[in-house]
Amino acid sequence: MAEHNQLVWFRNDFRLTDNSAWAAACAGGRPVAAVYLFCEQQLVGQHDVGAPRLDFNARNLECLRDQLAQAGVPFLFLDAGTFARVPDRLARLCRDLDIATVHWNDEYAWNERARDRAVCEALDEIGVAVEVHTDQVLIAPDRIRTQAGDPYKVFTPFRRAWLQELRRDDYAERVADRPRAVAPAKAAGALEDAAVAERLAQHRDAGQPERFPAGEKAAAQRLSDFAGERIRAYREQRNFPALDATSALSPYLSAGVISVRACLRAALEANDGELDSGEAGVVTWITELAWREFYRGVLVNFPWVNRHLPFRRETAAVPWRHDEEEFRRWCDGKTGYPIVDAAQRQLNETGWMHNRLRMVTAMFLTKHLLIDWRWGERYFMQKLVDGDFASNNGGWQWSASTGTDAQPYFRIFNPVTQSEKFDPDGEFIRRFVPELRDRRGKAIHQPLESADMLSGDYPPAIVEHRFARERALNAFKQNL
Ligand code: FAD
Repeated sequence: MAEHNQLVWFRNDFRLTDNSAWAAACAGGRPVAAVYLFCEQQLVGQHDVGAPRLDFNARNLECLRDQLAQAGVPFLFLDAGTFARVPDRLARLCRDLDIATVHWNDEYAWNERARDRAVCEALDEIGVAVEVHTDQVLIAPDRIRTQAGDPYKVFTPFRRAWLQELRRDDYAERVADRPRAVAPAKAAGALEDAAVAERLAQHRDAGQPERFPAGEKAAAQRLSDFAGERIRAYREQRNFPALDATSALSPYLSAGVISVRACLRAALEANDGELDSGEAGVVTWITELAWREFYRGVLVNFPWVNRHLPFRRETAAVPWRHDEEEFRRWCDGKTGYPIVDAAQRQLNETGWMHNRLRMVTAMFLTKHLLIDWRWGERYFMQKLVDGDFASNNGGWQWSASTGTDAQPYFRIFNPVTQSEKFDPDGEFIRRFVPELRDRRGKAIHQPLESADMLSGDYPPAIVEHRFARERALNAFKQNL
C-alpha cells in the first residue's frame, strides 16, 4: 500500500476552491486522485431529483473535470446506480489505485449517512483510512444543543445558539477559506477515463436554459455582485418576486459550487465584520443561511422526517386529499389564482422559484386544496434546479403546518392578499401568465368565479377561498 495516495470523493461539492476535503487531501503535496460516483437510479428513482438539477450537476462536473485536468489530477466518473453499490465500487477503486486515505465532505440526509457508514466499514476492512470533513455547513448539526443537551426544534433559539457558536474562539478558523491546494502529483495507476465526457453529456438536458451558468467562477461572480450591492436592500426587497433582490445562489449552495463559508465571508465584509448587528440587509441574509443549517440539523436530529413522515407526528392524522386532477392543475399553473399560477409557471419554465412564492404556492396546495404536502414536495424536487432535500422538506413541512417551528395551521395565507402585498402592480404575474396581460388594476390579483372573455383561456378559480379555508381548518381541528 502506497502510504500517501489520497482519493477525494466528490459528492455535492463541485468545486476546488474552499473545499475542505480537497484541501486536506492535497495538503503536503501528496498524490491525489478524484472520483464521482453517479447513482442515477437512486437519485431519480428514490430521491426524485429531476432534469434541471441533473443537468446543473452534469455541467458543474464538466467544469470540475476540466479544473482537475489542469491540475494534473486524474478524475474518474463511475456509474454506481444505487448507494448500495457504492461501498464495493469505492473499495475496488482504492485497491486498484493503492489509496491510503479517502476524503469526503459530510452529508446529512438519512440515505447518504447510511451509505457513508457502509463505505467506512468496507474501507476499514481493507485498511484504507477515511477522513470526513465538515464543509456543507458552518457548524456541524450535532454541535448545536440546548442547555439540556437536546437539539433545537424552534428556529429563533437555534439561530441564537448558532451565532454564539460562530463567535467562539475557533471562529476565524471555521470561517476561513480552506488553503488553496498546490497542484498535486499524480496518483499511481492508469486513471485516464476517456468516456467521462460522453457519460456526462448524457445527463445534460438540452431543454434547460442556462440561467444558472456552471462553475465556481460563475458562482463567485454571483456572490460578489450580490454582496457588493443588493445585499443592503435585501431586508426590504427580498419578498418581492418581480425584483431581482435575492442572491439566486441556491443552486450553487445546494450543489456545493460555492462554499457557505465564502457566502458568510462576503456578507461579513459588507458589514464591517458584524454578524448580527449593522446593516439590516446583511443580518437578514445571514439569517437565511442559518435556516439552511437549521433544516440540515432537523434531518440528523429528527430522523423520521427522512422517511416521508411529518415532524409533528400528530399531524399524520390530517385527512389529506389525493385528487389527481386538482394536483395536475396546480402543477401546471392553472388553478385560476394568478399569483399561484405565476409561481408554478416560473418553476416549470426556469427551474427556480422565489422564496415568497414557494411559501404561497405550497400553502395553497396543502391548505386550499388540502392535498398531501408530500406530493408537492416531490414535484418541487423534480422541477427545481436547487432541489435540496433538507430545505425542500423543511419548507414544505413549514407550509403544511406539520414541521418544526411550522406556520400554525390556522394562519392560512390568502393568495389574493399575498399577491396584492408582494406583487402590487401585477408585474410578476404578467411576466408568467400572459393570458392576464390585459387585466387592469387590482383585477390582476383576483381569481374569477367563471371564465371571462378578457382572460381568454385563463381558468376560473379551482376552489373558493372561504370554503377552502374552512375545510382546511376543520381538517386540522378535528384530527389533532
Ligand atoms: P437568498 O434569499 O439569497 O438566501 C441565501 C441562501 O440561504 C439561499 O441560497 C439558500 O441556500 C438559503 N435559504 C434561503 N431561504 C431559505 C429557507 N427558507 N430555508 C432554507 N434555506 C434557505 N431551498 C433550496 O435551496 N432548495 C429547495 O429545494 C428548497 N425548497 C423549498 C420549498 C419550499 C416549500 C419553501 C418554502 C422553501 C424552499 N427552499 C429551498 C428555501 C428557499 O425558498 C430558497 O433557498 C430560496 O428561495 C433560494 O433563493 P436565493 O438563493 O435567492 O435565496
